[in-house]
Amino acid sequence: SEAVLRVEDLRTYFHTDEGVVKAADGVTFDVTRGRTTCLVGESGCGKSITARSIAGLVLPPGRIERGHAWFQPDTDADPVDLAALDPTGEQIRSIRGGDIGFVFQEPGASLSPMYTIGTQLARAIRLHQPISKAEAKEQAIEHLARVGIPSPHTRFDAYPFQLSGGMNQRAMIAIALANDPALLIADEPTTALDVTTQARILDLLANLQEETGMSMLFITHDLGVVAEIADDVSVMYLGTVAERGSVTDIFDRPQHPYTQALLESIPTITTDGTSEETSEETSDGAGDGGRLPAIPGNVPHPNQRPTGCPFHTRCQFAMPGLCDETTPHPIALDDGRLVRCHLRDPDIENLPPQVVTEP
Ligand code: SF4
Ligand code: MG
Repeated sequence: SEAVLRVEDLRTYFHTDEGVVKAADGVTFDVTRGRTTCLVGESGCGKSITARSIAGLVLPPGRIERGHAWFQPDTDADPVDLAALDPTGEQIRSIRGGDIGFVFQEPGASLSPMYTIGTQLARAIRLHQPISKAEAKEQAIEHLARVGIPSPHTRFDAYPFQLSGGMNQRAMIAIALANDPALLIADEPTTALDVTTQARILDLLANLQEETGMSMLFITHDLGVVAEIADDVSVMYLGTVAERGSVTDIFDRPQHPYTQALLESIPTITTDGTSEETSEETSDGAGDGGRLPAIPGNVPHPNQRPTGCPFHTRCQFAMPGLCDETTPHPIALDDGRLVRCHLRDPDIENLPPQVVTEP
């Protein structure tokens, strides 16, 4: 199939004393083979939980309630439903770090301070390949060189605290790519880095993708990063995908009011990676995890999910009696994108809202 990953109606809930938190509540998107899909949205929209659900990293009280995450590492392999695997089982552990690489925002989340980066990288290689320690070390040094770590023979023996944030992130990428994954999942991998280092890491990922042909699922809240790295974009809001399409369609002709509001907060970013007069110096907050959208109101807590369209409490086009009562379904537009908004529904848009009473 064209898709290396096909996520369908994924629902991941947390069963807490305060009630059920629907962190992912019907997430649907694809990652096309050899391309990069960005999951973008404000913090708390369910991006990380979606990624963690795919990678088998959701543990109690979290649980995948329903839905699928079909993963097909290459076109002649049988698709595996990652959402159906036991998160503590053998199968997901061999896929994670094998056919799926994972990079987190904080290198500390997966680099141990106790071991040298070389030891950790060699161990990751040997976990998935039956080779000797000496062979693994040789491979590890090659991988460190490939991710742009200078003097890899020396750095093999460095502990994470001896390296900069950018070098640690490169080491993380080396570990994630050690077994030549078909899919790299990167969750805010550059958010903790300064602007220059961030740009270098994005370049590195793009080059590695070109070299290996791997597919990427890239999670970020930063539309500047999306403009630089995405081929396809899924815009998330409160546990669902509001709109998905190609990066040019999303940036040039956003169709969902939430996407429009996000983009209005940073009007000058273009998809060729340049940003007109809004340079890194003049756009305030850019690069330090900045470019946070200035949409009025706050994202409601996922256990106080609004009825109807989840965005209706902040949407300037919300239609009373419709948007607060009826959940919009994804509508396919002619250009291939999907939009979850009543405004785009040809059956509804011509009706006065009062007429529509049933979902
Ligand atoms: Fe706004 Fe209604 Fe569309 Fe939701 S369905 S985005 S509230 S217009
Ligand atoms: Mg997150």
